[in-house]
Amino acid sequence: MQVPILDLKPAYEELRGELDAAYRRVMESGWVLLGKELESFEQEYAASVGVKHCVGVANGLEALQLVLMAKGIGRGDEVIVPSHGYIATWLAVTHAGARPVPCEPDPRTYNLDPERIAELVTSRTRAILPIHLYGLAADMTAINAVAARFGLFVLEDAAQAHGAMCGDRQAGALGHAAGISFYPSKNLGALADAGAVTTGDDALADRIRHLRNYGSKVRYQHEHIGLNSRLSELQAAFLRAKLPRLAEWNARRTTLARRYEEQLAGVGDLVLPAAPAGFAPVWHLYVVRTKQRTALQQHLSAHGVGTQIHYPVPPHLTPAYVGAGWRHGEFPLAEQFAGEVLSLPIGPHHRAEQIDYVCTTIREFFRRA
Ligand SMILES: *Cc1c(COP(=O)(O)O)cnc(C)c1O
Repeated sequence: MQVPILDLKPAYEELRGELDAAYRRVMESGWVLLGKELESFEQEYAASVGVKHCVGVANGLEALQLVLMAKGIGRGDEVIVPSHGYIATWLAVTHAGARPVPCEPDPRTYNLDPERIAELVTSRTRAILPIHLYGLAADMTAINAVAARFGLFVLEDAAQAHGAMCGDRQAGALGHAAGISFYPSKNLGALADAGAVTTGDDALADRIRHLRNYGSKVRYQHEHIGLNSRLSELQAAFLRAKLPRLAEWNARRTTLARRYEEQLAGVGDLVLPAAPAGFAPVWHLYVVRTKQRTALQQHLSAHGVGTQIHYPVPPHLTPAYVGAGWRHGEFPLAEQFAGEVLSLPIGPHHRAEQIDYVCTTIREFFRRA
């Protein structure tokens, strides 16, 4: 049996009618940027998240960067980011001109540890930028409390968490603003790069509408130093076709995550992902941890099971940040997890038998090890 980590074709097969109609609608309208499809998608997505504004932009990285720019967070400022996570979050801070200040994760959830934030706050700290990693919302109640204590802005990186809940609120509506990615592999994915900012703040949403379009509201009148960061009509139309399916597709992921949990609990030294009470993750990734990661990955690959590592090198040790002067051993949890995490196949179009086969293959590996 072959179990690919990701296959986008079945999503098209399931939604062929809607996606083809979306394509035709845009082609026949003759309008390709900043039009009715985007406006409608922004309203529909904001409503689905339970937040006042959604502003479509070109990708998730720029969504985060635009929020920092709009808040005037830049040179001389510090932003607290997760030491364990994707480099895009750090890059957004760096592109805005500010300095990322890494904070170690809670080893149970892999998300920013709220207990460790206060000790990192300096007179230059302006914002906290938690990631809802792997589809599990960060502990936003605790993070918002620290932010309120120090007067900091809270920007969620909700790129992996479309539909994830923390208490009775959804990722994207848990801080002052959120950056969202609709990269094709995300739970809600476009068919090319796309992203959005969500926020309840009128002034912030308005400023991002300018900043995504050359800092201009009226053509050729430029009030701000903006970017070109637009979500195209075609991608907005595809996202509108897929949004009504998101809840069901997330539910399918959850069913498969339970299947993994039932069959992998107590196997070898595997550490399975936690879903703390009060949180409903959307299983963007199903990430296990083991000291035997390399051998397990090879064994799975030899048996037709695709896996990935999210992420093999923590941002502070990448060549990109070598100039910033961080050393090996400085963020031990991030470094440990980078050496141990392994993402197993999970998606709305994986079948239960495929997950069972992955589990059997893993159990066989540990029996022999
Ligand atoms: C995908 C992702 C991003 C970047 O989104 P793009 O649309 O690829 O720019 C940022 N942060 C996290 C956590 C992501 O998973």
